[in-house]
Amino acid sequence: MAAIQAAEGGGRITLFEHNPNIGRKLLVTGSSRCNLTNDAVEAAVYYCEDPAWIETFLSVFGVEEFRRAFDRLGIPTQKTDDGWYYPRSQSAQAVAEVFGESLRERGIELRVATHISGIFYENDCFQLQVSGLGLHQTESFDRLVLGAGGKAYPELGSRGELFGALEKLGHNVRPLQPALGPIFVDLGPFKQLKGQRFDVLTSIWRGEEQLGQTLGNVIINQDGFNGPGVMNLSHLVALNPGADLTLQVNFIAPFWSDFADILTGQVAHPCSLRAGLLRYFTPKSADFFIRQARLDPGAKLTALTEEQIRQLLEVTAEAKFGVTGAGSFRNSQVSVGGVPVGEVDPLSMESRLIPGLHLVGETLDVAGPCGGFNLHFAFGSGYLAGTHLASLKKQKSKERT
Ligand SMILES: Cc1cc2nc3c(=O)[nH]c(=O)nc-3n(C[C@H](O)[C@H](O)[C@H](O)COP(=O)(O)OP(=O)(O)OC[C@H]3O[C@@H](n4cnc5c(N)ncnc54)[C@H](O)[C@@H]3O)c2cc1C
Repeated sequence: MAAIQAAEGGGRITLFEHNPNIGRKLLVTGSSRCNLTNDAVEAAVYYCEDPAWIETFLSVFGVEEFRRAFDRLGIPTQKTDDGWYYPRSQSAQAVAEVFGESLRERGIELRVATHISGIFYENDCFQLQVSGLGLHQTESFDRLVLGAGGKAYPELGSRGELFGALEKLGHNVRPLQPALGPIFVDLGPFKQLKGQRFDVLTSIWRGEEQLGQTLGNVIINQDGFNGPGVMNLSHLVALNPGADLTLQVNFIAPFWSDFADILTGQVAHPCSLRAGLLRYFTPKSADFFIRQARLDPGAKLTALTEEQIRQLLEVTAEAKFGVTGAGSFRNSQVSVGGVPVGEVDPLSMESRLIPGLHLVGETLDVAGPCGGFNLHFAFGSGYLAGTHLASLKKQKSKERT
């Protein structure tokens, strides 16, 4: 995105990528459908030490600007009922291919299978140590946009190898931790629900202190929970090493008011406990909850005593699990940490320490929850960096004429 925008200003642009193709990570996003952005994009949802910085960024690159930029590239978007945007094609592969064609059309030199192992600043230029396809050499550029990602999913290309070079150039780098990954817990009898999916409200507790809460879909697997309903909290596990953490899962929160009506008999046909639970759960899950609550599946829901309702809510609304760990970089979607946002300008992504250097995407210490927030930031920061470079070029050509 940065290269495409920068090309508007003319000049020679080279894009280095050490994978054999561009957009390898993009291909796996949104279950290969590429969840690009979200109506709920706002500063408060991002995990970033300076909310005012994110707010300034979003004031120039919000959802509308995102959609317009993608429309111009030939990637129209559409949203789900809950405001998650995907390409109309519903295909990450299509998005990557359109980006490839846009790069070629604009004459951008694309150097894939080419690794950057070092960056130096000498003689008013960025010197890149470039290797690949049998060559090892230093190449010189007057400006540099670095979007080398964080450390998540290293096999897709981003391993954090250039943070050392950024430190040598004078930038700080906050320690990197995995985020948006599974949470491992002691499942106890809930192991019987392996493979079952639920929409849940989850929260993480350190003693009496709630560290975070989120709503979303989860799947129960061998070692705990995975899916957006826990991924948005997994960084809290990584950030509290050694702490005694509890994951609380509320399986009925998303339909609580509806369920409360059934419990209190405010429906036309009062039903059995099992039939009531089958409105929301699979038979396997409904039977499990009834067994765990030590209740009679045939009991009329409206006839449950207060004590029986408490037993039911204990397993369905207040299930508690001791946290044993969280996903590593290998199975987490993003990393938190990286260069602090205060070290770059939020409107151009230009370094405040090294003029001419722009830092974009996950290289910066910004992370969002599941739902398109991370691609919004990655593409948006690239867009602003590229637009800034194009405007500098245009200005230079004007001065010459
Ligand atoms: C499985 C999965 C699903 C996801 N789904 C979504 C989703 O649906 N929506 C969403 O918003 N976010 C999603 N994310 C997160 C999102 O993909 C990232 O936040 C985003 O790709 C970050 O973009 P980036 O350009 O900063 O880094 P990256 O996408 O990691 O790109 C950095 C590029 O730099 C290259 N590179 C790194 N180092 C070097 C080097 N030394 N030399 C040459 N090239 C180098 C890498 O090969 C890579 O191609 C998902 C992530 C994963 C892993």
